[in-house]
Amino acid sequence: MPRQSPPAGPGEPDWAAAVAAVRGLGPESRVLLICHVNPDGDALGSMLGFGLGLRRLGVRQLQATFPGPPEVPEPFRWLPGLELLVPATGAYRDPDLVVCFDAASESRLGELAGRLAVPGPVLVLDHHASNTGFGDVQLVDPAAAATSVVAEELLARLDVPLDAEIAACLYVALTTDTGSFRFDATTPAVHQLAARLLATGIRPGDISREVFDTRPFGAVRLFGEVLGRARLEPPAAAGNGLVWTYATQDDLARHGQRPYVLEALIDSVRCTAEADVACVLKQVGPGEWAVSLRSKGAVDVSRVATALGGGGHRFAAGFTGRGDADAVVDRIRAELDSALVTS
Ligand code: AMP
Ligand code: MN
Ligand code: MN
Repeated sequence: MPRQSPPAGPGEPDWAAAVAAVRGLGPESRVLLICHVNPDGDALGSMLGFGLGLRRLGVRQLQATFPGPPEVPEPFRWLPGLELLVPATGAYRDPDLVVCFDAASESRLGELAGRLAVPGPVLVLDHHASNTGFGDVQLVDPAAAATSVVAEELLARLDVPLDAEIAACLYVALTTDTGSFRFDATTPAVHQLAARLLATGIRPGDISREVFDTRPFGAVRLFGEVLGRARLEPPAAAGNGLVWTYATQDDLARHGQRPYVLEALIDSVRCTAEADVACVLKQVGPGEWAVSLRSKGAVDVSRVATALGGGGHRFAAGFTGRGDADAVVDRIRAELDSALVTS
C-alpha cells in the first residue's frame, strides 16, 4: 500500500548514519552504486555524480550498475563517470557499501534486488513518496525535485567540492526530473542548486541539446506516426479527459530506432489541452508494455500506477502493463475515477 501522507525528509540521524557509512570505508573497501531499471537522467546522473564524488574521496574500488541490458541511452552517453559502469552480471557480489539511487522499491532494481543482502550497509537515496523504506539507511526526501538534490547534500556533508564533472551529472539529473525547471517541484532551493552547479563552468545549452534536443531523423518520423494514432477521450476521469497512444517494437524496428527515443514521447502527448491525464504505452516484449502516465493535477497518477503494480509521483508515474494495448488502457480508465484528487 502507498503511504497516505508522504514521509518527512531525512533527519539528522539519517544524514549522520550516511556520512558515517562513507567515512568508515577503508582503502580496500568495495562500493557498489545501483539505480533503477531503464535508468533515466536522474538515476544515471545522481549515481555517476555521487560516484565521482566518492572517487574524489579516494574510494578506489567503485562500481556503478543498473539491472537489465548494460546499455546507456544515447542522450547520456557523454556523461562523466561512465567509466564506473559495469554490467549487472559483473558487479561486486559482496560489497562493503551499496548505495541505491532513485528507486522507490526493490522491484525497481530487477535482478539487483537480490544483491541487497550484502555484508555492508545499504544506503538509499531517493525522492519518491511511495518509497517502501528498504535498505539500512534511508535518505528519502519526497519534497526533493530529484534524487540528485539528496546526492548533492550528501556530497556537501562529506566535504566533497563540486567540480564540472560532478556538476554535469547532477545537472542532467535535475533538469530531467524537473522538466527543465518547469514543474512545481522547482523550488528556490532547486534554482540555488542549479546556480551552484552552473558556477563550476558547465554549459547548460550544450547539456540540454544533448539530453533533450538531439534525436535521429528516424525518431522524428516515428513520433509522427505514433502521435498520429493518439486518441482523446474527453469523458474519461470524470470528464477531465484522457489522451493516449502506443508504440510497438515493430514501430521501432521499422524506423530503425532504439527504445530510448520513446521516453520523450509522453511530453508531446501530455500537452493536449483537453486531457488531464496522458498515457503512452511502450511495448517492451510480447504483450508487455512500459506505461508512462502524466497528470495536470485532477488525477493522482501514482495511485493509478500503484493500483496496477507500479508507482511514481502524483504528476508522473508508471507501471508494466500486460495484454494488448486496449486491455491495458481499459484497466487505466477503470482506475482513473478512484484516483481523482478531491482536496
Ligand atoms: P516514466 O514515465 O518512465 O518517466 O516514469 C515516471 C515515474 O513513474 C518515475 O518517477 C518512475 O519512478 C515511476 N515509474 C515508472 N515505471 C514504473 C514501474 N514499472 N514501477 C514503479 N514505478 C515506475
Ligand atoms: Mn527515475
Ligand atoms: Mn527521480
